[in-house]
Amino acid sequence: MVQHKVIIIGAGIGGLTAGALLARAGFEIMVIDQADRIGGCCQCFTRSGHRFDAADSMFLGCGPQGYNSLHYVFQKLGLTFELAELDPCYTFEVPGQRFAVGRDLSALIKEMSSHDPDRERQLRRFHSTLNIFRRAVDRIPFERPLTPKEGLTWLLKNWWVLPLLSIGDRLPFTRLLHYAVSDPTLKSILNYQLKAFVPDNPGRTPALLAAILLTETHRGGLHYPRGGSGRFAASLRNVIKKAGGSFLLSNRVTEILVKNERVQGVRLATGELIEANYVISNASCWSTYGQLIKSDHLPAKWLQRVHSLKPTSSMFICYLSLDKDFVESQFAMHTLWPKETTHNPALMLCIPSLVDPTSAPQGKHTGMLYCQASYQDWQGSKNYNQQKNKEIEHLLQNLDQRVPGARSHVQVLDAASPLTIERYTGRDFGSSGGPLSSVDQWHARNLPQKTPLSGLFHVGDSTFPGSGVVAVTISGIIAADQLQHEHHGQ
Ligand SMILES: Cc1cc2nc3c(=O)[nH]c(=O)nc-3n(C[C@H](O)[C@H](O)[C@H](O)COP(=O)(O)OP(=O)(O)OC[C@H]3O[C@@H](n4cnc5c(N)ncnc54)[C@H](O)[C@@H]3O)c2cc1C
Repeated sequence: MVQHKVIIIGAGIGGLTAGALLARAGFEIMVIDQADRIGGCCQCFTRSGHRFDAADSMFLGCGPQGYNSLHYVFQKLGLTFELAELDPCYTFEVPGQRFAVGRDLSALIKEMSSHDPDRERQLRRFHSTLNIFRRAVDRIPFERPLTPKEGLTWLLKNWWVLPLLSIGDRLPFTRLLHYAVSDPTLKSILNYQLKAFVPDNPGRTPALLAAILLTETHRGGLHYPRGGSGRFAASLRNVIKKAGGSFLLSNRVTEILVKNERVQGVRLATGELIEANYVISNASCWSTYGQLIKSDHLPAKWLQRVHSLKPTSSMFICYLSLDKDFVESQFAMHTLWPKETTHNPALMLCIPSLVDPTSAPQGKHTGMLYCQASYQDWQGSKNYNQQKNKEIEHLLQNLDQRVPGARSHVQVLDAASPLTIERYTGRDFGSSGGPLSSVDQWHARNLPQKTPLSGLFHVGDSTFPGSGVVAVTISGIIAADQLQHEHHGQ
């Protein structure tokens, strides 16, 4: 057996990032995925000449000034695919008003305050308060693992950061909002803006997460990979392959083999055993600890912690062909309509062909219409096709209410329910973000990359720092670093 073989279970961005960094460091990498293609949530497919992103379309953290873990990985691995910078980054609508959120924060503040000096003052106070937390996040050296000596120097210089992170982790967004803003209309607009990203109750959303989401567009910006989200996964795969690594697709791992508290390799659904010195799981925490490892290999407390984690809800997605003239008169690439009533759910329409015309045929645009969905409503569905058609109709009706006349310009080419997401991405409960990013289980309370078993690491949105492409890239950077430390006996 080669002395440093690493098996990666899952070719999502977390697994591929760790794999590419380790491949560059000389480890022998084998990536195994149950799907027939790589990328997990970052994959594309085509229907009738339209190229769709199966899930991810918003790429935060790509610019050098922002939350720049992606930028770090692109530079470090020499990834060269082109990123389109979006400006406006997104638009969001509240009843009767539409706001374009661009790079320029002052312009947004002017627009949101409707030129009322008191509202403008409140908005500036709101953003200054967010920035207190944001400045603390900026000091975390996510983008480059530190040596122990560098870590100590960092801690001495940045002693004020940890208490702020700890407060921001636990403080609900609504408390921060209440402190900074008194105008009820403004409060509801800012709640809507956050809900556009985090559909959960803002009273449970950590202020620190809000600080990242509501400031990042004004710093690193928002990007979209030309050629589709799958380009990011493909570039990471190329790094692994160039370094001699291999991919085993359409193969499900059914067990992580453990002996004397150390991993030995994996078992595939075919029964085949593959030995390795290290295993990195990019599967969810519920699969990794609940199914792949026999429970007697794990501390009871650890299992309790995993099983107590509540998942982020799932989504229903319609993949659309849109008439060109209809789109170009009124949309940015991302439009968000926050939830108004139970019958009027949050919707997001993403039209990648506005920045990447190669994704749609002549005269058309490619659109993905997303809505939050409950896995339980679909689990064990008796009339699946009927339920799916009903939900498509529900989404189109809602789009039509928000954009009158939209229906006559839209053709549905495909749709994904929570069960489709679960099947194609292997994500338990079709979850859109691993464990819920709420004050009681996010960030410092996320599971770490280092597991209780020697030689086993965990990446992806079940682990610190949480969900989204930026976060799972960071999880891959941390796991690659920790594995190298373990390997070199440090
Ligand atoms: C609909 C939707 C839209 C989203 N939009 C955005 C967005 O715009 N921007 C953003 O930043 N984030 C978005 N997210 C969240 C983001 O996609 C995820 O947080 C992130 O991509 C997850 O990456 P991951 O590394 O955890 O791996 P995943 O993408 O979950 O991939 C895991 C891989 O592991 C494989 N696998 C699992 N179990 C096994 C097994 N036993 N054997 C073999 N293979 C296995 C799966 O097949 C899969 O390929 C979205 C998520 C969803 C569902």
